[in-house]
Amino acid sequence: MTLSPTLTFNDGNQIPQLGYGVWQVEDGVAEKVVRQAFEAGYRHIDTAKIYGNEAGVGRAIASSGLSPEQLFITTKLWNADQGYESTLAAFEESMDRLGLETLDLYLIHWMTPKRDKYVDTWKALIELQKRGRIKSIGVSNFTVEGLERIIDESGVVPAIHQIELHPYFSQRELREFGTAKGILTQAWSPLGQGGELLEDATVASIAAKHSATPAQVVIAWHLAIGNVVIPKSVTESRIRENFAALEVSLDTDDIVAINALDRSAKGEGRIGADPAVADFA
Ligand code: NAD
Repeated sequence: MTLSPTLTFNDGNQIPQLGYGVWQVEDGVAEKVVRQAFEAGYRHIDTAKIYGNEAGVGRAIASSGLSPEQLFITTKLWNADQGYESTLAAFEESMDRLGLETLDLYLIHWMTPKRDKYVDTWKALIELQKRGRIKSIGVSNFTVEGLERIIDESGVVPAIHQIELHPYFSQRELREFGTAKGILTQAWSPLGQGGELLEDATVASIAAKHSATPAQVVIAWHLAIGNVVIPKSVTESRIRENFAALEVSLDTDDIVAINALDRSAKGEGRIGADPAVADFA
């Protein structure tokens, strides 16, 4: 079976570049679709406490016949749990739901700058990594200033930064900052949540050229520019279709054309919240 290529973190661990995300997947559905993802070849699953499906993901892991060493599991610390001691406690609760002893990757879900707890939270992740409970630690939805602050105040550079990223919002500044610091970039909502992007004329013409689907072309673009990418679907045929994007090889002209779809210079393109101001419980 084809498996995803891996990328190497600044801590020496590796992450499968193509994973499967489970936001908005009900806990009762998660076991079935995560098992389908494993059968399609995915070994990397992206969940979070706030998704309410860590237990379902855990059931899929337990019934999969795959060992923890064959899998790469990410979960995320929710905003309300930020702070040193509360992070240590929330981590154990997530691990109980997942049924795991060791986690591959733990992320601070949002910087939530108004709380001003993300430095202490980051220090708790560093402690859990020192204790051997987490292999790699990273963040999600930070700004350059927030990343600089946690690095300056802890001396530890995140392994990865998970951010909204798709062709209409390509996050050039954060990707370049990550490359300069040795932080991998992970794309959330990589398909633009399946809206207008998958109807885009440029994407459609590249798809026709490669006898691929628009979703496969967008995933292949993420892979080609070095992103870790975690598309979501609860439809088995799409779960498989998205994994088969590994076989789509874009040329330089394709990548240049997709890069040109970015709308951020016009102040457009973002679907989700802006991490510089987002602060929801
Ligand atoms: P996505 O960009 O992966 O789009 C998913 C939607 O696209 C599906 O619900 C479906 O409607 C459509 N789709 C999927 N495959 C398709 C196909 N082959 N053909 C046509 N349509 C298809 O959106 P997402 O779920 O927002 O993001 C992916 C993952 O990223 C999440 O599941 C989650 O794990 C993660 N995420 C993280 C954050 C964060 O704050 N860190 C935020 C959002 C998402």
